[in-house]
Amino acid sequence: MNEIINEYVRVIVIFFRETNPWVIGPIVFIFGAIFGSFINVLIYRLPLEMDIVFKPSFCPKCKKNIRWYHNIPIFSYLFLGGKCAYCKERIDISYFVIEILTALCFLLFYVLYGITWDFLVLCIFFVLSLPVLIIDFKYHIIPDELSIGGFIIGLFLGLIHTFIGFDNNVNITVSILDSILGVLVGVLIFGGIYFFSFWIFKKEGMGLGDVKFSATIGAFLGSAPSLVAFLLSFIYGSLFGIILMIYKRIKNTKKIKLLSYFKDFNVSSDYLTSIVRVYTYHTELDQLKSSYIAFGPYMVLAAWTSIFISHQITDIFLGEII
Ligand SMILES: [Zn+2]
Repeated sequence: MNEIINEYVRVIVIFFRETNPWVIGPIVFIFGAIFGSFINVLIYRLPLEMDIVFKPSFCPKCKKNIRWYHNIPIFSYLFLGGKCAYCKERIDISYFVIEILTALCFLLFYVLYGITWDFLVLCIFFVLSLPVLIIDFKYHIIPDELSIGGFIIGLFLGLIHTFIGFDNNVNITVSILDSILGVLVGVLIFGGIYFFSFWIFKKEGMGLGDVKFSATIGAFLGSAPSLVAFLLSFIYGSLFGIILMIYKRIKNTKKIKLLSYFKDFNVSSDYLTSIVRVYTYHTELDQLKSSYIAFGPYMVLAAWTSIFISHQITDIFLGEII
């Protein structure tokens, strides 16, 4: 059975490898655009808990179903001038940008790895991770469909890779064993932070969604690259945290300066104190509101950085040992 599958896959792979890249490239680009369109559906519908498969595309404003010829990725947006064909409501440019971006990234994976198992796995991880980045950034949630769903897909890909193993020419994809190890690394680090902060501070130091998504990254990347990814995600997160802190300090300095203007007027000290109180209260409220940083976007960016650089990093640190 395995041999029959291997033979079929080999024929398909050889067909793709031997066809002119100028023919395959555009096909890959079109596939990317179609998946970009699907990513838009995920980003719009998952946070609203809407059906992602059976409900046809519709305009968010006039609710009319979009006809297939108005729903061609990239092209339709340009053709319709970025407006709904019925109510002329502006279609957010992000739909168009995501379609182009996905198409270009698929093309990049093809240029780098050709039609290989690596290529397929990278495309799947892209379709899972881009919605996580955007949804977590916008809504501060990571839908289970992407985290748990992605974790299962990652393990499944590891299984296929290990037991069918038709493509030995791989750089990125991992065996089922390494995939499971990656999940363990993720759950140990992120689950550890989650439970320790609960235990010591009685607060969630990390969202449960982040813990689940760490398992997805682990399953796709394997142990060493996911460890690199997790460390990088903390670096990215703290870099952004510092930028946020500086921004707040500048904003608060403005408020304090504003207060000092009041001093020049002859207002009663009681009045001044009450104003100071109100300002302090609002500043604290601001801090409270924005102190929660969605961590998913950093995890996604770190995972992609790790995919491209982790081999060099592990070579430097472990090259001598292995
Ligand atoms: Zn409309």
